[in-house]
Amino acid sequence: MRVLLVEDDELIGKAVKQALKGETYAVDWVQDGETALSSLNMEDYSLLLLDLGLPRKDGLEVLKEIRQSKKSMPVIILTARDSIEDRIKGLDYGADDYLVKPFSIDELHARIRAVVRRNNSIASPILQNSIMELDPSTCEASRDDITHTLSAKEYSLLHTLMLRPGNIFSRNQLEESIYGWNEEVASNAIEFLIHAIRKKLGKDSIKNIRGMGWMVIK
Ligand code: CA
Repeated sequence: MRVLLVEDDELIGKAVKQALKGETYAVDWVQDGETALSSLNMEDYSLLLLDLGLPRKDGLEVLKEIRQSKKSMPVIILTARDSIEDRIKGLDYGADDYLVKPFSIDELHARIRAVVRRNNSIASPILQNSIMELDPSTCEASRDDITHTLSAKEYSLLHTLMLRPGNIFSRNQLEESIYGWNEEVASNAIEFLIHAIRKKLGKDSIKNIRGMGWMVIK
């Protein structure tokens, strides 16, 4: 899952990026409102983590503009402003949730899982299709009562597919959803990950649609 983190505080930015990278997310980090908007125009993000007090353009202004441009990815506000008025404004401008600094990384993870679920209209915390299950809280996949541990990238790829069973994803879409700006992507990286996942969950766990991409069945 590709995440855009907008945070001008070096320490908090570094800590959040580090914590999320270890948890299977691909994180791009920018430090001002204008750069946030141009990044959002260039890339397709599954989640935005947005500080409010930002140089060049305030976080609330950024939020207003992205909702006006009909971008619907979930947004979690990270803010030191804990006045009720700011929280209400954030939610009214289209944020899905907010965390007041200082927050625990565990809580951030739990909130991310919850907004991603809500955004994809998935009520259960476990993603499933007719043959397997994926648990976002443990990053484990199971099939026929056998549970498999996945590497961070294997999980990330399978998570992208399992959020939309029956949808075909191109190589480019998969690469963009699991790799951030500074990560080097080998040309066969996606095939390599799919091979590894199939080894654990079975050949038919991920289907190849010739010339188009890959999908999981419904
Ligand atoms: Ca700030």
